[in-house]
Amino acid sequence: MIKDIPTHLDFEKVGLQCISKAFEMLYKVGNRYAEIVEEDSINDEVTEEIFWTHNTITVRTSLIVLFQGIEYLMKGKITEQSALLLIENNRTDWPSLPEKKDKNFDEMQTISGENLLSVFCAINPLQLNLGDFVKQFEELRLKRNKLVHSTGVETLDYKYVVEKTLFFLSEFYSKDRWVGLFREMFTSEPTFGYWDADVEGAYFYRILNFVEASLTKGQINKFLNYDIKARRYLCPECTYWLNKHEHNGPKPKWGFLKPNTPDSTILDCLICGKEYSIERKDCKCKSCKGNVINSDNIEDLCLSCYNEEE
Ligand SMILES: [Zn+2]
Ligand SMILES: [Zn+2]
Repeated sequence: MIKDIPTHLDFEKVGLQCISKAFEMLYKVGNRYAEIVEEDSINDEVTEEIFWTHNTITVRTSLIVLFQGIEYLMKGKITEQSALLLIENNRTDWPSLPEKKDKNFDEMQTISGENLLSVFCAINPLQLNLGDFVKQFEELRLKRNKLVHSTGVETLDYKYVVEKTLFFLSEFYSKDRWVGLFREMFTSEPTFGYWDADVEGAYFYRILNFVEASLTKGQINKFLNYDIKARRYLCPECTYWLNKHEHNGPKPKWGFLKPNTPDSTILDCLICGKEYSIERKDCKCKSCKGNVINSDNIEDLCLSCYNEEE
């Protein structure tokens, strides 16, 4: 018999780990450059393009690991039916008859690439628009094969890898799955919270900013439940902790009205992933036209200006 057959959860776990790691590699490069630019105006001499070109190998590795992660997610979905569908070996070579010696699943040959795609599409476990999925998968697969089997893709933009990451996560889950996944990645670092979990957590905005800088607004809107072009707000908690840490530069605004209507009473902050109750009344500050007010911690706190214009 075949022993130690993995479950769909085993595949999913390692798939999401790969996808998170692929993204993290890019984020670390992009964030490092953003930090240097914030600390010191170097962009004239060392452009973003030069910085990324120097880190080409990271972008290549990221694409390879992303593809690996997507294959794992596909294998997970197929395994919900049966992991045996993943086995490449001839049926006559399976260790299934009584006189044959047992084998572990990981000793069997398993399908990948085009064969994996065929089985995945035969089941279509997510009821996807297969035309689009196959097109995107094949494009990524061919790029990955060039990277692995020859000297690689001539121009590989990190933005392409970010966009594909969000695309495939939205195909397998929901359109905004990346926000929660990357927040889990960010807060599960072993050293997270060692200093101050509230302040450190508020720095998740760096990941959101990186994604925003990598994609167009139109692209982001495909992977978000809110309109990125709509008005955005500060957070009663995240902004407080960033202020406490004397965070310099523009305050990140990742709060969206839920729903985005004039009588909305909920603000959803993508940094902390929490919802806050709001009232619609005018800010007292002279130059501020804000009218989204929270009073959880501070009476009549304006989430447009944080009462800092007073
Ligand atoms: Zn928040
Ligand atoms: Zn205000």
